[in-house]
Amino acid sequence: MALSRPVRLFSLVARWILAPRRGLTVRSPDEPLAVVRIPVALQRQLEQRQSRRLNLPRPVLVRPGRLLVSARRPEFNQPARLTLGRWESAPLASQGWKSRRARRDHFSIERAQQEAPAVQKLSSEGNFADLGLEPRVLHALQEVAPEVVQPTTVQSGTIPQLLRGRHVLCAAETGSGKTLSYLLPLFQRLVGHPSLDSLRIPAPRGLVLVPSRELAQQVRAVAQPLGRSLGLLVRDLEGGHGMRRIRMQLSRQPSADVLVATPGALWKALKSRLISLEQLSFLVLDEADTLLDESFLELVDYILEKSHIANGPADLEDCFNPKAQLVLVGATFPEGVGQLLNKVASPDAVTTITSSKLHCIMPHVKQTFVRLKGADKVAELVHILKHHNRAERTGPSGTVLVFCNSSSTVNWLGYILDDHKIQHLRLQGQMPALMRAGIFQSFQKSSRDILLCTDIASRGLDSTGVELVVNYDFPPTLQDYIHRAGRVGRVGSEVPGTVISFVTHPWDVSLVQKIELAARRRRSLPGLVSSMKEPLPQQPDFDKSD
Ligand code: ADP
Ligand code: MG
Repeated sequence: MALSRPVRLFSLVARWILAPRRGLTVRSPDEPLAVVRIPVALQRQLEQRQSRRLNLPRPVLVRPGRLLVSARRPEFNQPARLTLGRWESAPLASQGWKSRRARRDHFSIERAQQEAPAVQKLSSEGNFADLGLEPRVLHALQEVAPEVVQPTTVQSGTIPQLLRGRHVLCAAETGSGKTLSYLLPLFQRLVGHPSLDSLRIPAPRGLVLVPSRELAQQVRAVAQPLGRSLGLLVRDLEGGHGMRRIRMQLSRQPSADVLVATPGALWKALKSRLISLEQLSFLVLDEADTLLDESFLELVDYILEKSHIANGPADLEDCFNPKAQLVLVGATFPEGVGQLLNKVASPDAVTTITSSKLHCIMPHVKQTFVRLKGADKVAELVHILKHHNRAERTGPSGTVLVFCNSSSTVNWLGYILDDHKIQHLRLQGQMPALMRAGIFQSFQKSSRDILLCTDIASRGLDSTGVELVVNYDFPPTLQDYIHRAGRVGRVGSEVPGTVISFVTHPWDVSLVQKIELAARRRRSLPGLVSSMKEPLPQQPDFDKSD
């Protein structure tokens, strides 16, 4: 349609005046519409503001590549290629978790590698013969554990030092093969030195001290066939059944060359003069940090007093006056353990072996943290357990460990799982000894898929079939977290491990923040010593004589 004359005139004037000054073009009636472009950043900002106003989900920021930390709020994601500097502060996904508004928030430390660090270097590290083990010990190992062909990193480090007669403090991550690290040198030492047999009461030449009955049975189960193959007798000694049982266990003939004992039972036996440690030539404290903590310290102190600990390798040579070589083994060593060690051995005689991954977040285990209200924990647990049972699996499926902080929670939660018809086993320290016996073994043999337990199942127990650890109650300390998480992703595990932790209390949040920061920095957890080489004050008043 033709425009009227004044309108046409106005349009021409406007084009002439406005176009050069403002960079605008005024469309002639025949030209197509001009496209006005808004910068992309501004457009996103506007969209975000609008979506927030409309309460729509916020857009997901896509970051290419694998993640080290993945969070519900993607702005807290950390790519795997990025590591925070030691002093660099980071925005933590768990930062505001002490507030109630953070409920149902969650984040995960992702699996960075498939294999446990302890086996990564297996192929390049030679074999057991290179470590100085004698043919008869190698033959025994091959006979009873044909799957153990090459030593793990910790075995390569520890075995030669022990064969040299050094006292050893071995601090290496959970599931890295520490048991064989001390058992093989122990047997080599015993087969090389004949027993004296001069005492009327049992006098073992090797003693392995462990903090729980379950662990005593486990270590005995590894040691017994090895010993049998070498003509040595291995027995265990555990409490919980009264003095009569202890007497009976020790009166069996012939008496044991190697005893695997819990501190309580051994303490009672020593007090009643049912056993002597005079012939001891090899003493192991397995899970040493637990054995040296307050609950056991008095008992362990007494046992160490009764053992004759060698001053150095030269002291070990005299067969007629046996002295004990000392091995302390553990996956966590809290500050102060060095001083305790110094009570029994001079720092010069002790070799410390620490793995580079000690006290670090395990890189091969996915660890998820969920902030929950206390009242929501049961529903969440039931959901996880039912989902775990139902999940369609292509590979082998594993078992589940659920950790609670007290025996009463284990019992209470057990009744709730019964109501939901979820089959499970329970293990806690207040159970009568008879009921407790054999529970962990039947869990290991997978007669049931789920074990509800307290921390008595978190120390040292081998659980290569466990796929999932749920911290129903968040562990009270970082050491406990390391030990619980260490039940998955062990050397020889057939299933990849996952840990899910429920975070409820403000004090839980403080621990989670330390874990998250250590993971983002790829550093060890704070408050746990990773080196015990510093000179320690001597305590000359400690009496090591019998
Ligand atoms: P830790 O005491 O360090 O927690 P364990 O001694 O209980 O670990 O060993 C964990 C698992 O690794 C066990 O099932 C054990 O049989 C297995 N294992 C130990 N050493 C080796 C090895 N050299 N090769 C393969 N598997 C091993
Ligand atoms: Mg162990």
